[in-house]
Amino acid sequence: MIEIQHASKTFEQRTGGGFTAIDDVTLTIGRGEFVSLLGPSGCGKSTLLNLVAGFERTTQGSVQVNGQPVTGPGPDRVVVFQEHALFPWLTVLENVAFGLKQKGVGKKERNERAMEQIRTVHLSKFADRYPHELSGGMKQRAAIARALAMDPDILLMDEPFAALDEQTRLILHKELEEIWMKTRKTILFITHNIREAVILSDRVLVMSTRPGRIKKEFAVKAARPRDAADSVLHHVEQ
Ligand code: ATP
Ligand code: MG
Repeated sequence: MIEIQHASKTFEQRTGGGFTAIDDVTLTIGRGEFVSLLGPSGCGKSTLLNLVAGFERTTQGSVQVNGQPVTGPGPDRVVVFQEHALFPWLTVLENVAFGLKQKGVGKKERNERAMEQIRTVHLSKFADRYPHELSGGMKQRAAIARALAMDPDILLMDEPFAALDEQTRLILHKELEEIWMKTRKTILFITHNIREAVILSDRVLVMSTRPGRIKKEFAVKAARPRDAADSVLHHVEQ
């Protein structure tokens, strides 16, 4: 469960003064909920995700995960980025097992656990490949497997499919949905793609540019994707 209470984030500017990227956001995301964040470039989506990830600290207000204040990154919250997620000098298996190695899990167990996640994302045949030998979609699958291997409560996904072609993106939607049905992880998912948000999520939050606020919220699971996309589109500034 993620609880954000009156959170603001102001960045110091080199030219003096501050820039408020998040302005008094209050938001609760329940355990097992899949929530998407939409909004124009620069509206503060990544900043909000980074506050939950613990990469950034609020300047005001609080962010709590499972009742504990977020004071930095933690194994209960894992981030999947758009790209550059994998270590190029490690194979898929080594990449996926990396976090477990850091945690001190022995080789046999970590390889077994890593292979289980590699199977989940349908990459078994590519476990011994290096990232440069994979397609974009395969790299994102490996990044998702690596996140799942840590067994976090919360998956934070910052435009994970933005760099992919439409076909691969649709395949990964299906896979992510399967993963979510199976694991019931809490997911905060950032995207610029309205259809993607509507298809995947329980709830879509639309942020507005100035100031960095959530201006509208939609419960979309029950609605027909076409209708839900239309109503969300109406509220997203370009
Ligand atoms: P995009 O869709 O392009 O990824 P976004 O909604 O994720 O955009 P953020 O990256 O959260 O936007 O940025 C929000 C605002 O905060 C932007 O104006 C950005 O310049 C500013 N910002 C973000 N990180 C920092 C930082 N570390 N220092 C100063 N300003 C920052
Ligand atoms: Mg961003």
